[in-house]
Amino acid sequence: MIRNKRAVFLDRDGTINEDLDYVIDPSHFKLLDKVLDGMRLLQQNYFKIIVISNQSGVSRGYFTIHQVDNFHRKMRDELKKGGIEVDGIYFCPHYKNGKVKEYAIDCLCRKPNPGLILQAANDFQLDLKRCFMVGDKILDVEAGIKAGCKSILVLTGKGKEELKNRKAWEIHPHYITRDLLDAAYWIIKTSYNQDV
Ligand SMILES: [Mg+2]
Ligand SMILES: [Zn+2]
Repeated sequence: MIRNKRAVFLDRDGTINEDLDYVIDPSHFKLLDKVLDGMRLLQQNYFKIIVISNQSGVSRGYFTIHQVDNFHRKMRDELKKGGIEVDGIYFCPHYKNGKVKEYAIDCLCRKPNPGLILQAANDFQLDLKRCFMVGDKILDVEAGIKAGCKSILVLTGKGKEELKNRKAWEIHPHYITRDLLDAAYWIIKTSYNQDV
């Protein structure tokens, strides 16, 4: 069934939670407005929700994989309080000029590369043409487009700053909007038109 093959990929910092630049302490996790409402609407419409995040702080030596996992446990707990369970969380710990040798590589999974999205698509048997990427940076948009998804820029997090730069963009989002709830409305409308 088509509905099983659809997912919305979400950037983490600045899209789901407040972007505090390399946020790692679970007590600093703060959900953005409208995120729970947006996720709920997507799940009611049979979209899987999969988090796709760059966490180069691991390669830079700011924190460990274990700490990232702890932060994600906190995120799952907070979302659960709002009745939401995300289907997957994928993150890239790499950065080519990092300090921690094993992660200091030029990988294919750091956005704007589409590696994490492609991996999730494989794991969940998704039809990427029916999937969407939502993020607050143009590199999120780019990763989604490279993977064959429609991409949305949200103006939470760093989104407004990104928008100021739009004359320099080489790729463009399919849609730009204020928050995840409005993105969810657009996704549902767009995928309905795609299906009829
Ligand atoms: Mg972000
Ligand atoms: Zn990577």
